[in-house]
Amino acid sequence: MRKSIKVLFCSSEVLPFVKTGGLADVSGSLPIALEKLGVDIRIAMPKYKGIDKKTATIGKNINVHFIENDTYFVRDALYGDRNGDFPDNLDRFAYYSRKTLELLKELNFKPDIIHSNDWQCALIPIYLKNIFIKDEFYKDIKTIFSIHNLAYQGIFSKEGFPRLGLDRGLFNINGLEYYDKINLMKGAIIFSDIVTTVSPTYAKEIQTEEYGCGLNGLLTEHSKKIFGILNGLDYNLWNPAKDKIIAKRYSFSMLRDKYINKINLQNEAGLEVNEDIPLFGLISRLVDQKGLDILAGCLSEMLKRPLQFILLGTGEERYHRIFEEAKRNHPNKVSVTLGYDAVLAQKIYAGSDIFLMPSRYEPCGLGQIISLKYGTVPLVRKTGGLADTIVDVTENPNTGNGFVFTEYSSSALLNTIDRVLSFYSDRIAWKSVIQRGMNADFSWKASAKKYLELYINLTSIKYK
Ligand code: ADP
Repeated sequence: MRKSIKVLFCSSEVLPFVKTGGLADVSGSLPIALEKLGVDIRIAMPKYKGIDKKTATIGKNINVHFIENDTYFVRDALYGDRNGDFPDNLDRFAYYSRKTLELLKELNFKPDIIHSNDWQCALIPIYLKNIFIKDEFYKDIKTIFSIHNLAYQGIFSKEGFPRLGLDRGLFNINGLEYYDKINLMKGAIIFSDIVTTVSPTYAKEIQTEEYGCGLNGLLTEHSKKIFGILNGLDYNLWNPAKDKIIAKRYSFSMLRDKYINKINLQNEAGLEVNEDIPLFGLISRLVDQKGLDILAGCLSEMLKRPLQFILLGTGEERYHRIFEEAKRNHPNKVSVTLGYDAVLAQKIYAGSDIFLMPSRYEPCGLGQIISLKYGTVPLVRKTGGLADTIVDVTENPNTGNGFVFTEYSSSALLNTIDRVLSFYSDRIAWKSVIQRGMNADFSWKASAKKYLELYINLTSIKYK
């Protein structure tokens, strides 16, 4: 008999409800792509401030269940405020995890697979395999745990361990214990049937000391169950031909209209209005991961070049200061917006010529994939998902869709900026790089199929 696979997808942020990073984009679009492939999928996330229902629907018929606890979840932010992480994060996400598992029985929805994402959901496979499994209802449920960023592991002081309700023996080197602290992600890696990361290169990188964030040993030990699947992009949301926010919609055949967006952006951002001058965009959390230290290290040299730079982002104070100073020194060349602004982000993707992502590491990265679609040429460091999506055009003149450098240094970045500038003046070559980017398909279609294959292998369900 044919049977569709039943999946519960767990995430602490899901678009269109809340977003702080790429996880929300994935959680709002992968389930929809899986539904299109016939998966019977539901989502569970916390009921944050501003969410006023118990359930909602996305896609055709995907129920999103909101786990309610006003004390824990009705706050101005998801994970922390200016004082740092919320001190009760362990209890908040332990509550969410337990309630999510209990909800399945209440709904009488017995999934074949629970697919959890990042440390906030890490207790779900841990609770399932250690507590809930004793109940017949939960016995056969398989688990997938997806790592979107290994740097955030959910590490907490051991004093909280008794409150988790787990056997004391699990606070052990073969369990959740990590240098005398609780490490939720470590537990999820151990207790999940499959672990995925968001790009094939990152799946390999995290098994090395350089990128393993202290868990490379454990990950190498479990390497047979680790898979890398590239995130897709929802082209219904990110498409310059349909985008209602930007000044003028465009496609490759109407590339001239992209430059109306450029002029509009220069105008709004207070930059010199000049269609010919190359405009570099950067939209990012302003943290070390994103390569801002090597950018800061060559910023003054970079700004001696004939180019403009527009930045949107928020994060570490020192970067706020560095970029604001650059703006003060070069008011016509530099625009800096410190904050989160989805509307301006779209205008920058549309109006820039080049998109900067010099990341130290990048599990997948969405910015470069969005840029490709908007005809904005990515300049990236060869790491993680950036290495899997961007092909250097100097090395590969017929297939290149961007500019790639390897060494993590300001000089390597500056050299690549210079390479971009000389390439930019060849308008015909530049246009063909844009064309390759705009024509590429990084939608969820292919990636969702890879998740489906994992689901099928895990459950050995005969699938239509
Ligand atoms: P990460 O998840 O590590 O932050 P990604 O590249 O995977 O990085 O995803 C970041 C997403 O968030 C992109 O869609 C990017 O455009 C968006 N984003 C980041 N910072 C801002 C900001 N300040 N304003 C608007 N959008 C932002």
